[in-house]
Amino acid sequence: MTALPRPIVDLIGVFERLPGIGPKSATRLAFYLLNAPKHFVEEISNDLLEMKKSIKICNECFGVSESEVCEICSDSSRDKSLICVVERAIDVIAIENLGGYKGVYHVLGGTVNPLNHVGPEDLKINELIDKIENREVSEVILATNPTMEGEATALYINKKIQTQNLKLKITRIGSGLPMGADLEFADQATLSRAMEGRRTI
Ligand SMILES: [Zn+2]
Repeated sequence: MTALPRPIVDLIGVFERLPGIGPKSATRLAFYLLNAPKHFVEEISNDLLEMKKSIKICNECFGVSESEVCEICSDSSRDKSLICVVERAIDVIAIENLGGYKGVYHVLGGTVNPLNHVGPEDLKINELIDKIENREVSEVILATNPTMEGEATALYINKKIQTQNLKLKITRIGSGLPMGADLEFADQATLSRAMEGRRTI
């Protein structure tokens, strides 16, 4: 690697910091871009900067948005009494891609994870409770990933809602998803079944 010119080494180093990219893939990407037409590389650079500049966090659901309130939250045909709680904005995309869900979302921003020093106060849990208290909510679907952290977070939220004595149905997505799986990587049929097979806690 030391024989390579510094700019290539630097780019490989940057790619290696991306999720799921190891040294081999990073090297392949760097050389691919080195040989690609200049306009393609400019397009990627511009799109990256544009994304960072124009994408905001929705004030209501904390998902991604181009304006203060995202398209889903501002869509009057969506059922605001049905809230699907997910870990990250990418999970919203996974469920939206199924096409059948007509409620809204609440993005937590992660999971409770003591090993990484992430406590409930670091997530949008109080915001969820506020939302439930201030709006007619009939059902909260806890759609955190079926991992240890996802389960712990779902249990925590369930307990928190119960202790507030709020009258609503709390459900957890079904067991179709394998333990340790990510919603993001689940195939559509499995995720559909998990949503349909949700059960009351
Ligand atoms: Zn929103």
